[in-house]
Amino acid sequence: MLGLMQEWPLLCHKILDHAALQHPHREVVSRSVEGPIVRTNYAELRKRALKVAQRLERDGFKVGDRIATLAWNSARHMEAWYGIMGMGGVYHTLNPRLFPEQLAWIMNHAQDQALFVDLTFLPLVEKIAPQVPSLRQIIVLTDSAHLPPSGLASFVAYEDWLAEADGDYAWKQLDEHAAAGMCYTSGTTGDPKGVVYSHRSNVLHAMIAVMPDAMGVSVRDVVLPVVPMFHANAWGLAQSAPMVGAKLVMPGGKMDGASIYELLDTERITFTAAVPTVWLMLLQHLEETGKKLPHLNRVVIGGSACPRTVTEKFERNYGVEVVHAWGMTEMSPLGTLCTIKPEYQDLEGAERLNLQQKQGYTPFGVEMKVTDDDDNELPWDGRTFGRLKVRGPAVSASYYGGASAEQFDADGWFDTGDVAHVDEHGYMQITDRSKDVIKSGGEWISSIELENLAVGHPDVQEAAAIGVKHSRWDERPLLVVVPKQGRNPDKADLLALFDGKVAKWWVPDDVVFVDEIPHTATGKIQKSVLRERLKDYRLPTDSSA
Ligand code: AMP
Repeated sequence: MLGLMQEWPLLCHKILDHAALQHPHREVVSRSVEGPIVRTNYAELRKRALKVAQRLERDGFKVGDRIATLAWNSARHMEAWYGIMGMGGVYHTLNPRLFPEQLAWIMNHAQDQALFVDLTFLPLVEKIAPQVPSLRQIIVLTDSAHLPPSGLASFVAYEDWLAEADGDYAWKQLDEHAAAGMCYTSGTTGDPKGVVYSHRSNVLHAMIAVMPDAMGVSVRDVVLPVVPMFHANAWGLAQSAPMVGAKLVMPGGKMDGASIYELLDTERITFTAAVPTVWLMLLQHLEETGKKLPHLNRVVIGGSACPRTVTEKFERNYGVEVVHAWGMTEMSPLGTLCTIKPEYQDLEGAERLNLQQKQGYTPFGVEMKVTDDDDNELPWDGRTFGRLKVRGPAVSASYYGGASAEQFDADGWFDTGDVAHVDEHGYMQITDRSKDVIKSGGEWISSIELENLAVGHPDVQEAAAIGVKHSRWDERPLLVVVPKQGRNPDKADLLALFDGKVAKWWVPDDVVFVDEIPHTATGKIQKSVLRERLKDYRLPTDSSA
């Protein structure tokens, strides 16, 4: 017997229809690439998205065509996204922090047909476009007054291009499983892999994200997604904010402490999300200026492990609740969020901070398990760590073109490549990337735990722990530290940080000081590069080296 309920496909443009109907005047504010702060609302944004869809179709783009975007978070970027999806196209976000050759490779792999690009990235596009024969049109997200001359073929100012449409367009009726978006993961090894989101997965992900114990975004929130739309869909906020009708503030390309503070203050932001580096910059700005955060209620921090000091400062000094989160491009991206269950609500001080070091538990719609190398499930005891595997309606079933098929098993589990343990209340903690664990005498040492402790030192800007070869133990931990400007931390002082906090044999054998640590395009430490640079490093503990 079948249920007798309506077939109502989960399509992304329905989110915007809803926002425009129920919350037409709710503002969408952007720091424009041209400079000024500009304001629109959901009703206007929908009208312009319809024009984007109409123009794309008139220009000959078809259902299933990949249409790239290389842009900061802005209302225009959102209009482009919804317009592309609404005519059946597939938005493909490009990360401008990648090298031009990587971007050209990705665009050719996806066979991108058109590109929406911010003024900022025109010089980059001039390098890439000639290498991407599939690219038929480049639409620069500005008006003709700001459009510089360019040697590029098929090159137009967005506002002129849009002005030729009247918006009299009906969204395409699509199967909810149709592709809606694409994003390539910037793996540290091998070619990038394409993740393909569907309309259904995007809508379900947005619904999962807004639940009260997940991101908990409401119509009364003012949301600032600092995390870029090109980094795992701005963690879904370009869909979940309009879904609930929250005011949205888009930061453009300025993510320094002073610029972010300005938006937090003038727009009275209540909810924001970004990687730890952004929050380190903001906290430094607040400490230097003595400013406070009277409007901000909650900040979601993920993308890499949130340092304990960041959580502590936000909560103790500024009264802002921190939600540590973990996810992946392949998971749309939310996987777990560290909101507090009743079992833990009485925790205070250091114990609460210990809990918040964990990446949290899965909301409905994400399943997880931890296994050993033979796929045996490991206990949820908060200690035993192994491979973290996930499945759910907004988790990839395969990569575009079938790459890396070994990461997906027959029961639908996706091997995340992360190493983690889960406690008896379901809280997961990442201890490493499987490629980055330090193997000392056959036992694993969590590099992330060592780094978290190291960045607690007042003179440390950034730290990375890597395994360096050792004749007796195979590998031993080495701590690589970038000191804060003008500071000169002492090695012994730094190593004393670990006393009593980790097992004795986890304490790094040595510390090296460097000016900078290499990062990937999504801000993660490139441990493979560090390991290569330090492969001949001789540890003082290795007598036979
Ligand atoms: P991306 O697809 O660029 O978002 O990268 C996903 C990877 O980032 C995950 O597989 C983790 O290794 C790492 N990651 C994301 N969030 C966290 C977190 N809160 N703590 C530690 N690692 C994280």
